[in-house]
Amino acid sequence: MPRLVIVSNRVPIPGDRNPAAGGLAVGLADALTEGSLWFGWSGRRASTTSEHPAIVSAHGVTYATIDIAEIDYRHYYTGFANGALYPLLLYRLGLMSFRQEDYAGYRTVNRAFATVLAPLLRPDDMIWVHDYQLFAVGHELRACGVEQRIGFFLHTPFVPPPLFCALPRAVELLEALCACDVIGFHTHDYREAFLQCVRVLLNIEADSEATFTYRGRVIQAIVAPIGIDVAAFTAMATRNATSVAANSLMQSLGGRPLGISVDRLDYAKGLPNRIQAVDRLLAQYPEHRKRVTFLQIAAPSREELADYRGLRRELDRTVGEVNGRYSEADWTPIRHITRAIRRSSLAGFYRLARLGIVTPLRDGMNLVAKEFIAAQNPADPGVLILSRFAGAAEELTDALIVNPFDADEVANAMHLGINMPLDERQSRHKALLASIRGSSARRFCQHFLEVLSPQPVHSAEPTDV
Ligand code: UDP
Repeated sequence: MPRLVIVSNRVPIPGDRNPAAGGLAVGLADALTEGSLWFGWSGRRASTTSEHPAIVSAHGVTYATIDIAEIDYRHYYTGFANGALYPLLLYRLGLMSFRQEDYAGYRTVNRAFATVLAPLLRPDDMIWVHDYQLFAVGHELRACGVEQRIGFFLHTPFVPPPLFCALPRAVELLEALCACDVIGFHTHDYREAFLQCVRVLLNIEADSEATFTYRGRVIQAIVAPIGIDVAAFTAMATRNATSVAANSLMQSLGGRPLGISVDRLDYAKGLPNRIQAVDRLLAQYPEHRKRVTFLQIAAPSREELADYRGLRRELDRTVGEVNGRYSEADWTPIRHITRAIRRSSLAGFYRLARLGIVTPLRDGMNLVAKEFIAAQNPADPGVLILSRFAGAAEELTDALIVNPFDADEVANAMHLGINMPLDERQSRHKALLASIRGSSARRFCQHFLEVLSPQPVHSAEPTDV
């Protein structure tokens, strides 16, 4: 059985006082068997980038991390990864800002990851690299002589050639990515966009199995939608729906419907557009005034970037305008929290909500959509309103699918959801639940590792159904 080596920007070390963002850790929990190694950035900025890792072990897993020099961090993380690549991959070309020195810093940090990781590797390892911060790690590992199987999974969308070509050094970056043996995406659309880029930029045609050969290496592009542990999330929601916090939320509503949205405070999440949709709902359907309440939880994210700080100001202003327009002495339409809330508390809140409003302008997958479904009481489920531009929309076709740019369409979906009869809510929820069970966290890991592994991976249970 090969050892699994996970490589990601942040490493979720158990007990860390400053924990890395939850999504990746939750998604990969099932892959982390005893003996695995997880490698990445410590979260610390130092005067120099480490040449040796700090190593800790917890629950049979080894965590190896390096510090990154302040200057490298600024070019790698703030500059190229989040200032150029991320907006590009989220279709926000207007926000892309490319600087040669940022790209050089990105390559330097990707090389540092590989140089420190390579001596820790064993001949039977399989290496699984994650996300847009680390496109070139596979290439740099090969340059260190690493011949083990390397997989890469992209947690954002991938964009078609007219967009990808706008990135200076696009060809170089794509070539670096093609040092991996397996490259995974959440949806068929993203994989197709990637294969089109391979066709246009590298002049290579994939076969009908999405396999192609580049510089003598056979590369397989796969679709593996990330998911959640459905049974565990349902249990967490059931437990937390009667917590003190959930009870006081419920009492404050006085039996009236709740719409909930949970996002990182990111421009891809469509937060101002969603507030505009609430505005349209209350304008078009006055019967919801003094009745429906929206709870928007927007967890701070990448606050060192000006675009993100600007978004926060815009959101505060837009929420203030709508609340000012419609509030009464005893009712406020939008409750707006710009702090992170524990996932367990969110689970309880979801279960109380009539509407889950997940309307990103673009999103790789969006786990909140899946969590909302898992949290519902099947006897009286809430309605999911989902952007067609979230990766989750490829699977969750029984949600109310909307175009997040169309405030009236989203407002109409909210109206429909609030008034939806019980039998329709139940039948939609049943289908959605089957769908999230079919692409659980466990299945995501199993599928990717089966393709990556030189031999079949065996696990105790096939799914968490
Ligand atoms: N989350 C959380 N607290 C918050 C906001 C979000 O625990 O205040 C969790 C949420 O439950 C989900 C993850 O963070 O598991 C967000 O994942 P998603 O795929 O929706 O978006 P991403 O942040 O990865 O773009």
